[in-house]
Amino acid sequence: MANMKAMVVDRWGEQSTLQNREIPKPGPGEALLKVRSAAVGLTLLNMRNGSFGGAAPRIMGHELGGDIVEVGSGVKNVKAGDRCAVYFYLTCNQCRWCRGGRETLCEKFGGFVGVHRDGGFADFVCLPAENFLPIPDGLDYEAAAMATDAVNTNWHCMRERAKINPHDTVMLIGAGGGVGIHGVQVAKLFGARIIAVDVSDEKLDLAKQWGADEVINVKRTPDVAAEAKRLTDGRGVNAAVDYVGHAATFQSAYDSLTTGGRAVVIGVGAGDISINPRQMMLTEKVVTGSRHSTRTELIETMEVMARGLIKPVVGMRTHFSEIESIFDSIKAEKLLGRGALTYD
Ligand SMILES: [Zn+2]
Repeated sequence: MANMKAMVVDRWGEQSTLQNREIPKPGPGEALLKVRSAAVGLTLLNMRNGSFGGAAPRIMGHELGGDIVEVGSGVKNVKAGDRCAVYFYLTCNQCRWCRGGRETLCEKFGGFVGVHRDGGFADFVCLPAENFLPIPDGLDYEAAAMATDAVNTNWHCMRERAKINPHDTVMLIGAGGGVGIHGVQVAKLFGARIIAVDVSDEKLDLAKQWGADEVINVKRTPDVAAEAKRLTDGRGVNAAVDYVGHAATFQSAYDSLTTGGRAVVIGVGAGDISINPRQMMLTEKVVTGSRHSTRTELIETMEVMARGLIKPVVGMRTHFSEIESIFDSIKAEKLLGRGALTYD
């Protein structure tokens, strides 16, 4: 049996270490990918702390691009030599939500790549073949890896949940983070005027660079809703997307809405917000969540990126065996954009 290098988390809460592992053999319905690039964001740190469940030891890593090198029996959708990106969710592909094109709500949800089965912070990753989608020509492995979480999550959110139109003003809370900075680009692509909210001028400068029209630094301007109203002639924003997901941030998202506005939470935070039902009835405000993206939306995201309409924003790049240095940068709130891993 040939061996590969892998970054393994022995127990949740511990750092990953470089270890030798056997290269997995794809079983029926599975395929093996030689990993060429991976993306790294804050979600991985939460996973590594055990907050997504799953059992350790575990090889993490779900934002991946590479080449199929072997397929198991019965696999028809991919073959050796195909360039592929990885779909993050382990779905049943049979239930009403999967069949109805909303597979992130799967009734028999099997968990996450890199949490409930081994991911791609290793030379190779073996997954259900249905989790591999072809990378279009003109899109490199790194951009494809970014597409699979940092970008497609926004594609689903802006089109299906926040329902952005060109006449909308949209507020993005946490716009300078690894997902948010791609959300700025996607919202811009849908034609919206963008108010970026974050905690540092560096992150807000980055948001401006990628298309934000106005910025709010919550350290200097804690009353975000008042500032949002000031920037919209007293009306409020048509949509507010919260990448942080804490009670305080989502409350300010809701409080910033104009009549008929949509507050959408993407981030996995904690706490409850307060909503007045009478005011909600009178204003028809919408409060909802946005959960990752479907496979179709990931395909669309990669095609749009291949046309150069959304670009990967990489703040730090290192070999996959040095992933802990990116985690350190995220913990210190120093990482601007997404981290990227190389494999050569
Ligand atoms: Zn399902």
